[in-house]
Amino acid sequence: MKPFTYERAASPAQAAAAAIQMPGAKFIAGGTNLLDLMKLQIETPAHLIDVNGLALDTIEPTQEGGLRIGALVSNTDLAADARVRRDYGLLARALLAGASGQLRNKATTAGNLLQRTRCPYFYDTDQPCNKRHPGSGCSAIGGVTRQLGVIGTSDACIATHPSDMAVALRALDATVETVRADGATRRIPVAELHRLPGDTPHVETALEPGELITAVVLPAPVGGTQIYRKVRDRASYAFALVSVGAVLQHDGTGRIAVGGIAPKPWRVEEAEAELANGARAFTTRLLAGARPTRDNAFKVALVERTLAAVLNEARG
Ligand SMILES: Cc1cc2nc3c(=O)[nH]c(=O)nc-3n(C[C@H](O)[C@H](O)[C@H](O)COP(=O)(O)OP(=O)(O)OC[C@H]3O[C@@H](n4cnc5c(N)ncnc54)[C@H](O)[C@@H]3O)c2cc1C
Ligand code: SF4
Repeated sequence: MKPFTYERAASPAQAAAAAIQMPGAKFIAGGTNLLDLMKLQIETPAHLIDVNGLALDTIEPTQEGGLRIGALVSNTDLAADARVRRDYGLLARALLAGASGQLRNKATTAGNLLQRTRCPYFYDTDQPCNKRHPGSGCSAIGGVTRQLGVIGTSDACIATHPSDMAVALRALDATVETVRADGATRRIPVAELHRLPGDTPHVETALEPGELITAVVLPAPVGGTQIYRKVRDRASYAFALVSVGAVLQHDGTGRIAVGGIAPKPWRVEEAEAELANGARAFTTRLLAGARPTRDNAFKVALVERTLAAVLNEARG
């Protein structure tokens, strides 16, 4: 691990201001992703700003009837919250499908959203990777791509975003609240938080330098049958090959976000109009323009089958 300096943030605005003042600074929350990356010298922050002491660890009702989830609420506490379990079952299920109990105890809401890809070449510092070293090339293209993306990818990067929680938040139309270095706050829909790679796969989110996530806001509950189904190589403690987060209403309408296939939770609202015509019609629309590789072409069929299973489960 490279040497770094360390400070504890005094307030969200101070944390954001400090991150701008110190070149190479990073926020640290649970540390379950960042510390691993630092040990491997994939991330080498010169300065860590520890946000754990900030009062961002509560879940409060909003005036609109939804919930404001503090950035530091742990994945365990969020999944166990009675209001989340009752009104946003999709979110609780997605969280419990991720990582392990010990990791979820440490992992935070913001850290989970901002965790980095699990592309094996990203983790192998002997291999070129445009996300690690812009312009060095992409070892995954032409390499082993079973875990990698089929849509939203580019000639520079075909990595996926690994978060289960983000898939649920996308289907639930959540919004992220932030504070910037100048103290200004703003809201970013989860739909717009993660960027597609294009020519700059190292730029992963819409956040500005130093911008701190302070909360995630859920709109008022929409009811329906909420299902999260995750398909992976092992029954537990593995990232999704494909996952489907669904909110399905009795009239046949619904919202579907898919994980494991793209650099962000993949949702195409227009495809949801096809739900009444079945899983194949929906998947054809959802994955229009997909660019699977030899190793991961199976994901196209797997999305359809996973959704078919979800629709069957919803019918009871
Ligand atoms: C073995 C293993 C298995 C896993 N399996 C799964 C899985 O199946 N599904 C899944 O979804 N996840 C899985 N994870 C990932 C885990 O969910 C993430 O590591 C965790 O959610 C990250 O949260 P954290 O608080 O520890 O983030 P940290 O490691 O502290 O930070 C992650 C990133 O977020 C930034 N950050 C943190 N807080 C803020 C903030 N408030 N504002 C702005 N930036 C911030 C940090 O600077 C850093 O870049 C697994 C992890 C491990 C190690
Ligand atoms: S897919 Fe992206 S993360 Fe993986 S090697 Fe290529 S550039 Fe790096």
